[in-house]
Amino acid sequence: MDAYAITDIGRKRTLNQDYAYLSLSKVGILPNLFVVADGMGGHRGGGYASRLAVETILEEIRKGGEESPSQTLVNAIREANARVRQAASKDEMLAGMGTTVVAATCLEKALEVANVGDSRLYVVNEKEIRQITQDHSLVEEMVRFGGLSREQARRHPDRNIITRAVGAEDDLKVDCFFVPLQEGDKVLLCSDGLTSMLEDEEIRRILESGEDTETCAQALVEAANNHGGRDNIAVIIIEPFSDEVSR
Ligand code: CA
Repeated sequence: MDAYAITDIGRKRTLNQDYAYLSLSKVGILPNLFVVADGMGGHRGGGYASRLAVETILEEIRKGGEESPSQTLVNAIREANARVRQAASKDEMLAGMGTTVVAATCLEKALEVANVGDSRLYVVNEKEIRQITQDHSLVEEMVRFGGLSREQARRHPDRNIITRAVGAEDDLKVDCFFVPLQEGDKVLLCSDGLTSMLEDEEIRRILESGEDTETCAQALVEAANNHGGRDNIAVIIIEPFSDEVSR
């Protein structure tokens, strides 16, 4: 597969607390690994939390046992949760920090995905853009339980409030998704700095522009910045080769 990862500070923030990690070679039992983390809390805390979470995830996966790929991702994220909480409890500058994590590995013709928070994973092709992960956010709950439209949610003043994060509670629930990949599918992992600035359809058009992953990733960042760039932006694009998908 071809893949590219990028983060950008955006136009308004003074720090970049987003973190994107990509490995096209084996990490522990996983054949490859993609992670986006969007840190929050305090001046130092956010960037510290996202970096610590990703580093812990890598370390845990590398030393992992015989679990399934999805269990490996879940265990690693839960350990990241424990480490972020521990670090926050020892340093008052870091108190209250947390991070989103969306992590994926591309297996034979399918993806395993694990998610906490409101960073997202999408599968995109020439016909549609599908959001695979569900945001753990207040506005997502308001949409799901009625009353708020998707469009209102995108502009809601409380859209940044997340209801689940790595570092928030001792017992962390991690969502898992198994996603078969078809020919023509591309995969996007991103932070809300992208999705709060761009409509899904705009994201799909850029990914389907026919350019390579690097050019598309940079075009997404540029588009988010052109729409205001109000937040840090993290983007990973994965383009499986034709023998890595079902026909
Ligand atoms: Ca963000």
